[in-house]
Amino acid sequence: MTDSKSSPLVPKNIEDLNRYVAGKTIAEVQDAYQPAMIAKLASNENRLGFSSHVQPAIEKALQVIQDYPDPLATKLRVAIAKKNGVDVDNVIVTAGSESLISMLCRTFFLNKQNVVTADATFVGFFVQAGVRGVHVKKIPVTSEYKYDAKAIVNAIDDQTKMVYIANPNNPTGTYLDKKEYEWLINNIPEHVLIIADEAYYEFAKDVADYPQALEYRRDNIIVLRTFSKAYGLAGFRVGYAIARKEIIDNLLKTKLTFEPTALGQAAALAAYADEDFLNRSIEVVKKGKERLYAFFDEHNVQYAPSISNSVLMILPTEEKAINFTQLMLEKGVILRRVNAFGLPKCVRITIGVEKEMDHFENSFKEVINRI
Ligand SMILES: *Cc1c(COP(=O)(O)O)cnc(C)c1O
Repeated sequence: MTDSKSSPLVPKNIEDLNRYVAGKTIAEVQDAYQPAMIAKLASNENRLGFSSHVQPAIEKALQVIQDYPDPLATKLRVAIAKKNGVDVDNVIVTAGSESLISMLCRTFFLNKQNVVTADATFVGFFVQAGVRGVHVKKIPVTSEYKYDAKAIVNAIDDQTKMVYIANPNNPTGTYLDKKEYEWLINNIPEHVLIIADEAYYEFAKDVADYPQALEYRRDNIIVLRTFSKAYGLAGFRVGYAIARKEIIDNLLKTKLTFEPTALGQAAALAAYADEDFLNRSIEVVKKGKERLYAFFDEHNVQYAPSISNSVLMILPTEEKAINFTQLMLEKGVILRRVNAFGLPKCVRITIGVEKEMDHFENSFKEVINRI
């Protein structure tokens, strides 16, 4: 046996890593508390479900499921390229955008290089950077829970390879507007990659001063999008990136060959064509947010206004955030504490359909004086 000190089984960066802990499932909550109703508002999924176009597409794809999927997901890439006015060579499709984040970390970093981002952003990015041993420079968000563009630019050094910007951000739902975003990308050197994570693009695209990264045809921008949120296909694991051809060509080398699955590709292609379902989903979120803001204003609750499908509730203390989340869970309202995302006093609420928001409000009134 070799001495474990001289030859550790697991490198330190892996041993020190915190695993991504997902929100609770409906079955877990049912088993633990038997609430009369469950509203799963913890993981930014689409509470309306998914497009009715998906099921027939899946049944068709199932008939040839013994065969490997198209490793280039050509049909889906063509559809994505067409809708976004880019070439098919500018698109890569993967098993969710989390897979893309993992690939970006595997593909672009040399030893000692770092990435700059906010301290309160998508925890999945922190995890994947940690796997690759990449140093993450976490820049505090502003008092409005927004990316601090100036501080991010100041933090870029000779070893910076990437800047990761989720816009709108998760878990805050806040965004950099056109002016702020333009200033930021204009002040990031050309050799630094800008990861523009637009997981919530569909909810944000109609906001007047929302800057979609594709409008800025920079060589160093990589746009990430997903079918998991507005399209309601989180269970299928399909995401995509849009960037210049040279970047996509190299990402195609590091991608797991046959991701995403044939069923995932078929489901995404069908869902992508259903504009009607997408628009209804966007409408549900818009109405739900207006209603939640009014409710919070009425009850003097602090929150960050959001252009995604979730709202960040800001509690006075971490203890109250813990208690609130737990008491709501016992009522069957599954919410997400975002301490792992860097915000221990906050709770993230995914916008649900009307009866779920009813359940949220009723449960809130029962628990809020007990935290
Ligand atoms: C949900 C989310 C993702 C991951 O989405 P998948 O495509 O399901 O892997 C990536 N980035 C952000 C900011 C998210 O909120």
